[in-house]
Amino acid sequence: HLKNVAKYNQYTNAFVDLTQPDHIRSQAIESTRRWESGTAKSAVDGAVMGYKMNFCTSDLRTTCSSAMLENFKAPYTATAIELLEKAGVIMGGKINMDEFGMGSHNVYSHAGPARNPFEILGRSTEEIQELEARSAGGSSGGSAAAVASNMCFAALGSDTGGSVRLPASYCGVVGFKPSYGRISRWGLVAYASSLDTVGTLTKTVSDAQTIYDIMAKEDPKDSTCLTERQRKAIADTLNPIDLTRLKDQDVNAKPLLGVRVGIPQEFNLAELAPATKDLWRRGIQVLKDAGAVVIPVSLPNTKLAVGAYFTLATAEASSNLQRYDGIRYGHQSDKNDEKDALYSHTRMEGFGKEVKRRILLGTYVLTSGSFDNFFLRAQKIRQMVRNDFDRVFSRRNAITGSCGNLVEDFESDNSAATRVHALLTPVAVSTAPKLKDVIGDQIDPVDAFLDDIFTIPASLAGIPSMSVPFGTCTKDGFPMGLQIMSQYGDEEMVFKVAKVIE
Ligand code: GLN
Repeated sequence: HLKNVAKYNQYTNAFVDLTQPDHIRSQAIESTRRWESGTAKSAVDGAVMGYKMNFCTSDLRTTCSSAMLENFKAPYTATAIELLEKAGVIMGGKINMDEFGMGSHNVYSHAGPARNPFEILGRSTEEIQELEARSAGGSSGGSAAAVASNMCFAALGSDTGGSVRLPASYCGVVGFKPSYGRISRWGLVAYASSLDTVGTLTKTVSDAQTIYDIMAKEDPKDSTCLTERQRKAIADTLNPIDLTRLKDQDVNAKPLLGVRVGIPQEFNLAELAPATKDLWRRGIQVLKDAGAVVIPVSLPNTKLAVGAYFTLATAEASSNLQRYDGIRYGHQSDKNDEKDALYSHTRMEGFGKEVKRRILLGTYVLTSGSFDNFFLRAQKIRQMVRNDFDRVFSRRNAITGSCGNLVEDFESDNSAATRVHALLTPVAVSTAPKLKDVIGDQIDPVDAFLDDIFTIPASLAGIPSMSVPFGTCTKDGFPMGLQIMSQYGDEEMVFKVAKVIE
């Protein structure tokens, strides 16, 4: 960690605040002693992790990359991080992000943009200076860049509409967003509470699984976090795959025997780069070779998802960000000349351009004149997107109880053959764009919303989804990922399929 931070942090701008090296060393020594005496706390005891700047920690600042929280130090630590600390993980530092999680390229940051490290590994300083910097993705761009450049074993990100999966695809690492409610959000600064999910960035699928297992626990401090009883009930609804009919085949050589994977036709957009289509095709072949049955499926409401997401996310953000008023904490303007002016000066100075845009949009959709037309309609679309998934998955949604059409239909063999355990899609329309093309006024903010087109449906439905690196683009040599989704609560299926893709 220390060596690679010295080497790569200046370029990537991933870590914004770092733990004192001496502190890291002494914790590492303690951990080594535990390993030597056979008392290691977990498989990741002594591993160094980085945390996105929107996770509260009582040690370093929690700025959310905003001038509003420039000097904010939280009085407590997020539950997810507490659990990791109990498992012996060492905090390497806090990481760059888009302000309050709003963005797809980590360019809306008070700490400056994060840069994609993919091209710089193994190059000399002079060579690096010649390169045109690429986007690390966002909003957890710093987290993906930190893991990709080996500055930490793993990093925490947050995923509201794709913020862990998109940067993972751009930087060539594994990005995992578990089901909504699996990991406590206590201590994760809210952007859009009904969508915010704690996610991980790691080098491998099994690393993601290891740290997910540590964090996926009941937490009385977050009422949306699943209780142990609910977790058990979910596990009971996930009926096991019936392998009895396949007994003649070698299950070991074909790890996906009995698994059906769907290819959603609506994700096959005209805008998709040929290299992306090619990658997807290769992914399908890999799954087939592993014994999976791959079939086309339809998620008809996919095209409505982006509009619904940005209506709901901005509405929730406008409400969540009311708390930054300069009175209780955070930035306070020193211009206080007239009545009410303190609030407006504070917010004008403290928030960046994109955040202000989202607050305005969100406030607008919540006004009485547009509430029915925008907010309620978006909620209905969200339900339609959820139903689309329930209709294609063979496993029942433990939360809604829904499994598409009729129960008899669901249980009959005939219908089972058209239902799937998982879905495979691209993560992003293309590879990481050049930073100069996505910075400042180079990009229309509404066009930028389309970067999340493939990741948003899983966020609206709250289902688990993972971005797994799958080779590089034949055109520019940059990494690209494939996305695996499965039914609510079925993280195990995501891991199973992802390990074959990886
Ligand atoms: N890019 C999306 C947005 O700006 C997703 C962000 C996220 O997942 N935090 O809202």
